[in-house]
Amino acid sequence: DSKRRGRNGWQAFTPELAEQQLQRLQLETHLRRAVHNDEFHLVYQPQVDLGSGALVAVEALIRWRNQSLGEMRPDRFIDHAESTGDIVGIGGWVLQEACLQMQRWRQEGLDIPRVAVNVSYRQFLGEDLASCVAAALADAGLPGSALELEFTERVLIEDAPDTLRTFAALRALGVTLTIDDFGEGYSALNYLRRLPIHGLKLSQLFVQGVPDNQSDVAVCQAVTGIARSLGLSLIAEGVETEEQRRFLLQLEVPVGQGFLFAAGLKPDDLASYCARVGVLRAEQQAFPFHRE
Ligand code: C2E
Ligand code: MG
Ligand code: MG
Ligand code: MG
Repeated sequence: DSKRRGRNGWQAFTPELAEQQLQRLQLETHLRRAVHNDEFHLVYQPQVDLGSGALVAVEALIRWRNQSLGEMRPDRFIDHAESTGDIVGIGGWVLQEACLQMQRWRQEGLDIPRVAVNVSYRQFLGEDLASCVAAALADAGLPGSALELEFTERVLIEDAPDTLRTFAALRALGVTLTIDDFGEGYSALNYLRRLPIHGLKLSQLFVQGVPDNQSDVAVCQAVTGIARSLGLSLIAEGVETEEQRRFLLQLEVPVGQGFLFAAGLKPDDLASYCARVGVLRAEQQAFPFHRE
């Protein structure tokens, strides 16, 4: 805070500040070795048909277990990894692992239609995302249609020179391309129209306010309208209550994800989940807004 700052913007040394910096340094030191030390694992959150509850896909969510730091959720470390560049290695591991898990499920006879993997902005800009993706698919013997990639709104907003080329290369692999947390940033609608993406994920920030909060209702309606008129598929995130599910169904949002259905599951728990709710095979999945 400003009281601690000197004339030149230097921060005076304080024990708290030293402690904070030490913690950051520790985290980043551990993070650098975490892939090598095999400290990450993935959990898989179901995405379900909002009407029937049947599974349409799963989203891979990373978890980090470190001996001295304990168990950590991604919001504790993804931003750090993004700023140090470690995210590129971590993201590569996530891609490979998610694809290998799909293969394992298929070998067990469990046909999960698709796995969605989060791609950070730096990973998107990095060396060659499309060839990493192609390699991960090939190593696991999966078709592109088994994989979905979730990008942050930053790919829309920042308009990097290679954005279109990267999307086109990914699309050519048959991978489904989605914009995560849609509505949180200021998405340039112009780019939405230009980029060859398949779908949007309506941010839980707005889903959680419906049906009571009128401005959240308005945003959900608007995003649904955007998806419909641009021919994009739509998933509502953070669905926690039956009222929310019903509201979204009325808006004709086809798919939902959230604690109402399930949190992230361990790979071994997917089989019994699918047995309970059923699986909507890829060919049966009708995305009402989808254009080809
Ligand atoms: P996200 O991709 O938007 O993932 C959804 C987050 O919302 C997950 O948090 C999930 O556990 C949580 N969530 C799901 N349903 C509900 C619900 O009904 N209510 C509430 N309150 N929360 C719900 P998680 O796993 O902590 O991940 C947080 C964020 O970290 C993710 O947001 C994603 O942006 C990032 N992340 C996770 N895994 C990866 C990864 O492998 N790579 C990258 N680059 N980012 C990742
Ligand atoms: Mg996501
Ligand atoms: Mg999201
Ligand atoms: Mg999020």
